[in-house]
Amino acid sequence: MTHPTIIPRDRKRGTHLRTALSLAASYTPVLPLRAGKVPFGNCPACRDNACGGRPNMKVPGPCLCPLPCHGWAAATHDLTVITSPEWVAAWRQAEGVAYHPGGAGLTVVDLDNAAAITWARRTLPATQTVPTTRGQHWIYQGTMPSANAVRPGVDIKSLMSYARWLGQGFGFTVPLPDVVRALTAKKPSPVRSVSVTAPVGGGACPHRAPAFLERGIAMAEQRIREANSGVHATVYRAFLAVLGTHGRCGCLTETHIARLFAAAQAKGESPRHCTDAWANARTALGM
Ligand SMILES: [Zn+2]
Ligand SMILES: [Zn+2]
Repeated sequence: MTHPTIIPRDRKRGTHLRTALSLAASYTPVLPLRAGKVPFGNCPACRDNACGGRPNMKVPGPCLCPLPCHGWAAATHDLTVITSPEWVAAWRQAEGVAYHPGGAGLTVVDLDNAAAITWARRTLPATQTVPTTRGQHWIYQGTMPSANAVRPGVDIKSLMSYARWLGQGFGFTVPLPDVVRALTAKKPSPVRSVSVTAPVGGGACPHRAPAFLERGIAMAEQRIREANSGVHATVYRAFLAVLGTHGRCGCLTETHIARLFAAAQAKGESPRHCTDAWANARTALGM
């Protein structure tokens, strides 16, 4: 691939669509990135997932919106979509191309700095490696849940996630090793003693009443949607409220979390900020 820094801006923008088409030709789902290297925000019709979300977000739908809404879930290898007038307009404005690693059957170990690369070289099997601004992407065959900051400077980008396309890099992919899968394995929380506090003969969590949980998520979405200023703080407080009520009983699913993240991203928050705010809220609650 041509080195991006030596291409004038207009030509670079034409290049995004060509890059997307070549990736799609090998069944890699792609999406445009706007300034700041983040997905385009949701259009008014898709705000708060009122449209039902994209089919691959695993919520009722499908969304028929012609725009690249819904963050990573917009990623597609459908050439009709990628070359539609709406997407071509987005490619023209785009500052980069992203792909959905999980949708391509891949996992990206995103190493943000030299220390993380040193750790990877000592710990992980060599695989396809792509240089990034400050670090490297190590790409493996196989999918797993995505997670940020699994170690200092290390993010996992696979299912329900996107990664910037920065070229082929060097080397060849090898199967996803257990040592990477183990990075997101749930750590046991010794303070939790559900069996002691559960009602005798029942054991069902009272929060499992779907209406109660649905109302909590809908309220959090509304708070984020109505934020006029201080979006960062509003998102954090909304996450805190949801986690404080539903975070300890296993009620929250990836779909609920995806709804909250989508609401935040519709207000211009980056996926990175969402995962950081979520992690900070969990830490604040001692989870
Ligand atoms: Zn839309
Ligand atoms: Zn939509």
